[in-house]
Parts: sequence; structure tokens; C-alpha cells
Amino acid sequence: MRVIKYGNPILRMKAKRVEKVDHRIRQLVNEMIEIMRDEEGIGLAAPQVAESISLLVVDHSLIEEDGEPSAYLNPEILAAEGESVFEEGCLSIPDVREDVKRPEVISVRYEDIDGNIHEKKVDGLLARVLQHEIDHLNGILFVDRISPVKKKMIQKKLKQIAAEEREAMAQVA
Ligand SMILES: [Zn+2]
Repeated sequence: MRVIKYGNPILRMKAKRVEKVDHRIRQLVNEMIEIMRDEEGIGLAAPQVAESISLLVVDHSLIEEDGEPSAYLNPEILAAEGESVFEEGCLSIPDVREDVKRPEVISVRYEDIDGNIHEKKVDGLLARVLQHEIDHLNGILFVDRISPVKKKMIQKKLKQIAAEEREAMAQVA
């Protein structure tokens, strides 16, 4: 399992709902948490490991004391308010960091790995991470949310990442 990069068409697909948490899903969650930690990410969405399903993991230990990595299944943003600007990066777009404007507070509904449904209002870093990862489930990347001028400035870098990804995909095939 590897983190796929910008240019891979899987990152542009709309992820399918997780209907049932089986052994395979649990194993995927464990592997995603491991990769997230290895790569020092704060969040990782299943499409980033080439699984187009509505699942993401967040490393809460980087957000709050006593936090642990946890999985969010079929997450949905119910409401959003306010506005904040924060510099984002993405394991699928290495070495690119840009300011992204997003709502400051969101209400989110999701299922945990045991099938319990949660509805929460979150703000700060967690709201930021969840919005970034939920975007992945809808085929949206943070570079889609920056100004056209800034996007133009990183165009060369994006093309280079996409070219390397094409090579990586060819090697697997
Ligand atoms: Zn990302």
C-alpha cells in the first residue's frame, strides 16, 4: 500500500459509502493509521491509498492531549460557519503548502468503526483536517481551493508530481 499522488485519477473519484464494517475495513483502517504516522500526516483519506470509499483517519494525538488515531466512516458536513485561513499540505501533493480559506466551525456527522453514529460541532485544527479529508472523499484537493494566481505559480510542481505518479502507476501495472 502506498499514498497515491496528484494526477492519479482515483483522487478525483467520488468515494462510495461504507455499508458494513468487516474485517477488510478494519484492516484498512489499521494500515491507514500506520501510513499516516509513518508519513507524519495528521489525516489520511482512503482514496489516498487507492481505496475509493468514504473513510478517513485522523491522528487526534496531534490535536489534543490523550488523543488517539481514529476512523471516520461516511462523514458528512451538516453545517458550516465563520471563516479562517490556514496553510495546508497534503501527503498526495508533496512539498506544496498553500493558504486555504475554509469555514472555521463545522457540524459533522459520521460513523465510528463500531457503527455508532456521532454528530458533533468542531472547530480549530480538527475542523480544518476534517474538511480537507472530506474533500478527498468528494474528489476535491486543497489546490482546487487556492486562488488561480497561486495555482498558476505551482503548476510546474503539480505537473512534475503528476509525471512521477504516472511512472509509479506504470510500474504497478
Ligand atoms: Zn490531502
